[in-house]
Amino acid sequence: MISKLDPSAIQGFLEDTSNLKSGWTPGVFFPENPEEAAGLLRNAASEGRRYTLAGNGTGTTGGRIPFGDYVIAMHRLNRIGEVEPLDNGIARIRAESGVLLQDLQSKAAAAGWFYPPDPTEKTCFIGSTVANNSSGSRSFRYGATRSHVRALKIALPQGDILDIARGEHLADETGRFSLDLPIAGDLSFRRPDYGMPATSKHNAGYWSAPGMDLVDLFVGSEGTLGIILEAELELRPTPEKVFACLVYFMSEEALFAFVEKARSGDAEVSPRAIELFDRRSLEFLRQGYPSIPHGTGGAIYVEQETTDADEERCLEAWTALMAECGAPAELSWAALDADGLAGLREFRHELPVLVNEWLSRQAESKVSTDMAVPDALSRQLYELYRDACEAEGFTYLIFGHIGNAHLHLNILPRNREEYDRAKSLYRKLVSGVLSMGGTLSAEHGIGKLKSEYLVQMYGESGIREMVRIKKALDPYLVLNIGNLIPTSFYETET
Ligand SMILES: Cc1cc2nc3c(=O)[nH]c(=O)nc-3n(C[C@H](O)[C@H](O)[C@H](O)COP(=O)(O)OP(=O)(O)OC[C@H]3O[C@@H](n4cnc5c(N)ncnc54)[C@H](O)[C@@H]3O)c2cc1C
Repeated sequence: MISKLDPSAIQGFLEDTSNLKSGWTPGVFFPENPEEAAGLLRNAASEGRRYTLAGNGTGTTGGRIPFGDYVIAMHRLNRIGEVEPLDNGIARIRAESGVLLQDLQSKAAAAGWFYPPDPTEKTCFIGSTVANNSSGSRSFRYGATRSHVRALKIALPQGDILDIARGEHLADETGRFSLDLPIAGDLSFRRPDYGMPATSKHNAGYWSAPGMDLVDLFVGSEGTLGIILEAELELRPTPEKVFACLVYFMSEEALFAFVEKARSGDAEVSPRAIELFDRRSLEFLRQGYPSIPHGTGGAIYVEQETTDADEERCLEAWTALMAECGAPAELSWAALDADGLAGLREFRHELPVLVNEWLSRQAESKVSTDMAVPDALSRQLYELYRDACEAEGFTYLIFGHIGNAHLHLNILPRNREEYDRAKSLYRKLVSGVLSMGGTLSAEHGIGKLKSEYLVQMYGESGIREMVRIKKALDPYLVLNIGNLIPTSFYETET
């Protein structure tokens, strides 16, 4: 197995897109097969080593950044299987954890199939997208990665390799899972004893539901319960046609009326994505897209799947909805073919990229949210963010997955004093969102940056529920310590 110990070779493993500084590691290992990865864990406790898992470094929460632990990098576990059509109109494909999402999507597309999860950044690894239950604009229709995972191969923290398929291990009526493993022996633990928020996206803490599948405990566990070595993923038939529109509105009032109607199902439209760009996001994007109209109240990006036979009716339905909500048709941008669609999706991608580039030239980091509220409260979430930032006089943008009432607020502090104020506002916003029945993270996860706030969401008893499960699977605490669960909770017995 290749390992790197030279500081210049391991520097790249001390960062992701979170701007979290001061990580360090004695070395990075690159397992080339599942046994090598599991072997590292098997010997971890006896060798006194802890490991942090690294994907491709596009995470936003510092999850892959080690603070003194060794790194296991997934780059060489990168084999991808063939697309295998099944009887029920779907197909499956197996991919090791270091396969790039964009490569998996291309392979599926070449065979006429479609892998829906679409985090805006496509250079992430498949294993990370499973570990983080990543999602994207199409999750409005298709759900997050969780909905597309059929089976997993996992290296457990004591060194066992576990192969699980959906339906094989369900929590019993008391919520208990039981496993008989060669190294760890008999493992038995109950699912977390807490409720889940009533949001349509949620990615903060271990999953828990009556009768839940063990697969769902590992999806979204951010590498704290095991290494995702390989996943079997579900593919859908490629839609015959897709079109997209960027619809500008002169007022926020009109924009939110459009969002409500578009997702209600009453308007004869069935979008697969409904995304917001607030007025400030459009102003930010104008540096790369000078043709963005001036003076609008914001824009909504929608994608719609259709067929040759239905395309005209669909377009008419969207045009009618835009007219009903007062969107000036002459300002809207439509993409009716693959090139146009790629261009508009690139426009969507450019916003977080430009923000990150801009920030890399600034002294201060951004303060950003990834929270969601129950769908019916999307406007209230927007107003909570907007009003709080206006009252503070901040430079800020609000954008993202309005269809799922999941918005990214990015506060761009101009100096340290603003940064400190933004951080204290963040805590207030978390309280506001939680009081609306929301979640701390809808897609980016918790990592190291947000673990302290997880206590606000679950209370100490909820965190202890996660520690209970973590310790059942990782009794020697060797894997991804510092991620998700605040480390102080490991010091108290549960
Ligand atoms: C511009 C931009 C846009 C983004 N847009 C979205 C978006 O729309 N939706 C979204 O969900 N995310 C988005 N992200 C976040 C990011 O792309 C995802 O979180 C992605 O899953 C991270 O993948 P990675 O391979 O880069 O992982 P890394 O950043 O390297 O690691 C992320 C976490 O996964 C853990 N991990 C890595 N590999 C494994 C494994 N095999 N088993 C267990 N744990 C593992 C790491 O320890 C770490 O905690 C965006 C990021 C950027 C920079």
